[in-house]
Amino acid sequence: MNTDLLKRLCETPGIPGREERVRDLIISEVKGLFDDITTDPMGNLMCRRDPRGRRTSSKKKSTAKKKSSGARPKKVMLACHMDEIGFYVKAIDDKGFIRIQPAGGFDPRNMFSRRVLVCTKGGDIVGSMNPGGRPIHISSAEERSKVPEVKDFFIDIGLPAADVKRKVRVGDMIVWHEPFEEVGHKVMSKALDNRIACWLGIESVRALEKSGVAHSCELHCVFTVQEEVGLRGARTAGSAIEPDIALGLDTTLACDTPGVPSEESVTKQGDGAVLHVMDSSIISDHELINDLEAVAKKKRIKVQRSILPRGGQDGGAMQQAMKGCRAAGLSVGTRYIHSVTEMIHKSDLEAARDLVAAWIPTVK
Ligand SMILES: [Zn+2]
Repeated sequence: MNTDLLKRLCETPGIPGREERVRDLIISEVKGLFDDITTDPMGNLMCRRDPRGRRTSSKKKSTAKKKSSGARPKKVMLACHMDEIGFYVKAIDDKGFIRIQPAGGFDPRNMFSRRVLVCTKGGDIVGSMNPGGRPIHISSAEERSKVPEVKDFFIDIGLPAADVKRKVRVGDMIVWHEPFEEVGHKVMSKALDNRIACWLGIESVRALEKSGVAHSCELHCVFTVQEEVGLRGARTAGSAIEPDIALGLDTTLACDTPGVPSEESVTKQGDGAVLHVMDSSIISDHELINDLEAVAKKKRIKVQRSILPRGGQDGGAMQQAMKGCRAAGLSVGTRYIHSVTEMIHKSDLEAARDLVAAWIPTVK
């Protein structure tokens, strides 16, 4: 598996409300795959691919004929959120320390001693993030046993206060500054949630295009904004498109690791793409889950069913937009989620890509 695009997606900063750099990268990657590409007022990148007939040698892109007068093609919407969890600059204190406002759910235990990028108008500035308080050498046992809150963390960019205040503004975005790496059979990054879905949206349609297989549905691949703060972009995009069927592509937990009983593992890495039966935001359409499973079985693609006890994803917003639609979640199991070491098995990611590409032509 070539991970070049995934690496670039993961290393491009983009937090809820500031997805523009990720969006620009995706726009540069999807040329030729879609018939119409627009950005809505909220920032969602809406990519439409019209129905395609089976490709013949004489005619490369014949548009499928509508079945009968008045029949409209089924609208299928895929949602791939572009945002990663991150921070906004909340304030700069008199010593030049940057105080932060989180955008998305952080576990403070994953926030210690992190390199960060403060993305300013003049460029990205590297800094260090740590919690307030004494280091180990001079702290009491009681102090060391306490986990600080997110608001206790601050950023030091190594400059005097006047320089910090000149370069950095309240509202600038901050992301973790950690490299994408390949580790054994896996990929590791701080932003696999949810750049893997951006990758899936692009690569599944690329696989479909390469295959030349016909599809009679009108496909809307939407790269959404602000998922991590409450599925906001998918709600407006779903309302605009009014899909018949929608899939939320996202990460889910893989807690097949020490300290978690196997019945709580949610998914197991290497066991394939995840049919996301339910979470706090969605109960997936059970027939849609069955359909996806049948396609996987026919094409010999590995899949596993899973329930996430808490958490949400864009499928929930699309399911409830306007008059509602048939929706399901299609996920990829991710270890150490919402940390800088998020890890995904490459074969699970490939299974998800192959399943989306094989399923689209089956929607009639
Ligand atoms: Zn996500």
